[in-house]
Amino acid sequence: MSNAFYTIPEPSNELVKSYAKGSLERKLLFEAYDEMYKRRIVVPLYINGEAIFTENKEAIRPPHDFNHVVGDYVKASPSHVKSAIDSCLKAKADWEQMPWQDRAAIFLKAAALISGPYRYKINAATMIGQSKNVYQAEIDSACELIDFFNFNAKFLEEIYSSQPISSVGIWNRTEYRPLEGFVYAITPFNFTAIAGNLPAAPVLMGNVCVWKPSESQMYSANIIMEVLIEAGLPKGVINMVSGDPVMISDSVLNHKEFSGLHFTGSTKVFKTLWKQIALNLDHYKTYPKIVGETGGKDFVWAHPSADAAIVGTALIRGAFEYQGQKCSAASRAYIPKSMWAELKVFLEAELKTIRVGSPRKVSNFINAVIHEASFKKLVEIIEFVKASNDASILFGGGYDNNIGYFVDPTIIVAKNPNFRTMTEELFGPILSIYVYEDTQWEKVLKTVDQTSEYALTGAIFAQERSVITKATAILRNSAGNFYINDKPTGAVVGQQPFGGARGSGTNDKAGSIYNLLRWVSPRTIKENFVPPTNYSYPFLEE
Ligand code: NAD
Repeated sequence: MSNAFYTIPEPSNELVKSYAKGSLERKLLFEAYDEMYKRRIVVPLYINGEAIFTENKEAIRPPHDFNHVVGDYVKASPSHVKSAIDSCLKAKADWEQMPWQDRAAIFLKAAALISGPYRYKINAATMIGQSKNVYQAEIDSACELIDFFNFNAKFLEEIYSSQPISSVGIWNRTEYRPLEGFVYAITPFNFTAIAGNLPAAPVLMGNVCVWKPSESQMYSANIIMEVLIEAGLPKGVINMVSGDPVMISDSVLNHKEFSGLHFTGSTKVFKTLWKQIALNLDHYKTYPKIVGETGGKDFVWAHPSADAAIVGTALIRGAFEYQGQKCSAASRAYIPKSMWAELKVFLEAELKTIRVGSPRKVSNFINAVIHEASFKKLVEIIEFVKASNDASILFGGGYDNNIGYFVDPTIIVAKNPNFRTMTEELFGPILSIYVYEDTQWEKVLKTVDQTSEYALTGAIFAQERSVITKATAILRNSAGNFYINDKPTGAVVGQQPFGGARGSGTNDKAGSIYNLLRWVSPRTIKENFVPPTNYSYPFLEE
C-alpha cells in the first residue's frame, strides 16, 4: 500500500451543455434517444453484484407516450430483499477496510463516465422514463449527478482530515467509522441525480446499502448501476431492489442491522417510515440515523420596488420547468397590487409561447407529468378551482391524456392567501398567485411564513435593501434555501447546499459535508505516550 498522503482533485461544477441547434451534443443525444426508444430493455435487480432477472416484471412506459413500452423492470420478492441485506452485510468488512482514496476513486471515475461515455445514455433515459426535456435532463442526470460524486469525494477528504488538538505526551485522533449494519436508500422519481446520490453518499463514507428506486425512475436507475459497476464498485456494496415499496421497506426496517434511512420523497411517506422505525427501536442494534428531504410549497414574494419582468421570468422558470415537479418549484406567489397589471400582461404573453408535448421535440418547454395518479390529482385540482368562487384560472387549465399525461401550465389567482392551492403541495405545472395591497407587504410576509407546513425553498424580489433585510429576517425559518432576486429552483452542488426543515425534511443538505457527516459514527482515540504509574495526585499530600 502507498504511504503518500493523496488528495482529491479540486472539484468544479460540470459545465452544462447548451444543446443548441446544430450542436454535436444535440445530434448525439437524439441518436441515443431514438435508439433507446425502439428497444425493449429489462432492468434487473442488482444483488451481490449479480443482475437478477425473473418473470415478475412491470412495464416501463414514457409518461408522454404511455401506450409505448421501452422496457420492463424486475420486481423483488421478499427473498430477494433478504438476499440484498445479506449481501450488504457480507460486503461490509472489505468495503470499509478499503483505503478511502480507492473508495473515492470509484465515484470520481463514475463522474467521469457520466461526463463522457454515458452522458447521452443517462440523459436520454431520463428524458424517456421521466419525461424531461433536453435541458432538464442535462442539468439533472448529467451535471448534478457528476457534481454529487466529485464534490462528495472532496468533502470526504475534508471530514477525514478534521482532527482534534492534542496535549503534551498525548495524541488525540478521530476516526470516522461507517455505521454498524447497513443503510437503506429510498429515492424519488423526479431527479436521477438524487437517485444516484442517496445510495452513493453513505457508501462513499464506507457504508453498505440497499437501494430502492422509484417505480417511475427505473430506466435511468439501471444506468446508474451500470455506471457504478463499470467504475469498479465491489459486489454487494449497493444492492438495488425494486417493486412493492411497502413490502421492501417492511423487510428492511424490521432487520436488526438496519442503521440508517436516506430518503427523498413525499412528507407523508417519510413520516410513515419514521413511525415504523420508532416502533422497531427496541429491536435494532443501534439508533438508526434518519435523513429525509421531503415536500415543499415554495414561495415567491415580490415587493412593490421589484421589477415585473424579473419576477415574471422567475415565476415561469421556477413554477413550470419540469412541469413543476421539483420539490423546489415555485407554487405560490404574493404580488403587490401596483405590479399586478404589468405582471399579468407579461405572464400571459410569455406563457402563450410555451409548447407542451414530448421531450423528443426540442421546442416543447413542458412535457408530461409523471403518471396517471399525478395527472388525475392535477385535473381534480383544476376542476375544483374552476368550480370555486374563491379563485379563478388566469391562464391554462387545459389537460390531455390521449397519448401522454399532459397538463398545461396553469396560473390560478386566489382571493384568499389560505386557499387550498396556496397551501397544498400539488407537484405539477400549477402556480397560485395572491395579489396584496402594497401597504400590507410586511403583514403578507408573516402570512408567507405561516401558510404552509413546509419550509423548503422561497424567493423574495425587491430593490430596496431595507426591505430585503426585513424580509430575510421575517422569513428566517420559512425556507432552507432562500433566494434574493432569483428563482427558488436550480440549487447547484457545492454552491447552494440543498434542504429544508419543518415538514420539508431533516435539512441535512444533500451534496454537502453536513449530509456526509450523518453517515459516520466518529470514534475518538486518545493515546497516552507516558501513562502514570501510580494513582496519587499532588493535592493529596498534607
Ligand atoms: P413518493 O413519496 O411517492 O415516493 C418516494 C419513494 O418512496 C419512492 O421510491 C416510492 O416507491 C417510495 N414509497 C412510496 N410509498 C412508500 C411506502 N409506503 N413505504 C416505503 N416507501 C414508499 O414521492 P415521489 O412522487 O417519488 O417524489 C415527489 C415527492 O418528493 C414530492 O413530495 C417532492 O417534494 C419530494 N422531493 C423532495 C426533495 C427534497 O430535496 N426535499 C427532492 C425531490 C423530491
